Amino acid sequence: MAEQTRADLVITSSANPEIKAVKALATKKGRQQQNAFVSEGLRHVVEAARAGWVIRRLIVADTQAPSPVMDEARQACLDAGGRVITVSGELMTRIAKRDNAQSVIAVIEQKTSPLSDVTPEPGALWVALESVRDPGNLGSVMRSADAFGAKGLILVGHTVDPFSIESVRATMGAIVNVPLVRCDAAAFLDWRASWPGRVVGTHLSGPHRPEGLRAPTPTVLLMGNEQAGLPTEMARACDTLVRIPMRPGADSLNLAAATAIMLHGLAGGAGGLE
Ligand code: SAM
Repeated sequence: MAEQTRADLVITSSANPEIKAVKALATKKGRQQQNAFVSEGLRHVVEAARAGWVIRRLIVADTQAPSPVMDEARQACLDAGGRVITVSGELMTRIAKRDNAQSVIAVIEQKTSPLSDVTPEPGALWVALESVRDPGNLGSVMRSADAFGAKGLILVGHTVDPFSIESVRATMGAIVNVPLVRCDAAAFLDWRASWPGRVVGTHLSGPHRPEGLRAPTPTVLLMGNEQAGLPTEMARACDTLVRIPMRPGADSLNLAAATAIMLHGLAGGAGGLE
């Protein structure tokens, strides 16, 4: 088992400033001020560390059994100059604001990428979401993007915070594998003008069907907002507009469900799915 160091703390009070700082990450303002977010569960924390994310704080319930994976998480936090904080199960429940809280949570530094990181390698597949509003949808899209080997997500316009606790939970850990780019609509359209690959948009009145789209061409899949769909200028920026067939009279698919169907049709253009 790892040795205790000066970076180890045992905290019993929710009034402790360390605990207050973690609880502040439940709000968008707190996350922006600290440039950090919360990830829950030992497996997700270790995967974040392995993927190179900086673990600033590791909060561990005093019931957590020692294990090699626990030691790895702890070492990753200490190596990043962070602190390991032991709390009671009851305090953990108050921090997580839920019953059956995980026995390990981490405070992780936020990371986003610039649009210049979206490069047109053969087979590269990116997902762009226009003004996504629902954190559960955003997290589910990240989870599908990871599963289908997409290179990352471009969040266009006024999107919900990808680092909110609801969004991170919905990713089931995939947030650490999916680079996130954020930009406004004007920057996206500017960038799109010099993107040499395709932009495949989705629209309820799109003339194309989702079959036969798989190709080695670098592709951006563009999805619309939950209420309004794709704005006209975004739809115009697409090379292809696809409508997923539904029964006559059906309103539309949920955004995350539609994204998963489209990704299934597009992924594997350069091989790699099994
Ligand atoms: N009322 C909106 C509209 O008119 O577009 C519905 C938006 S829908 C809930 C959210 C997004 O999911 C759409 O912008 C589109 O990207 C995608 N979507 C949902 N159903 C779809 C379908 N049948 N075909 C293609 N895309 C779809």
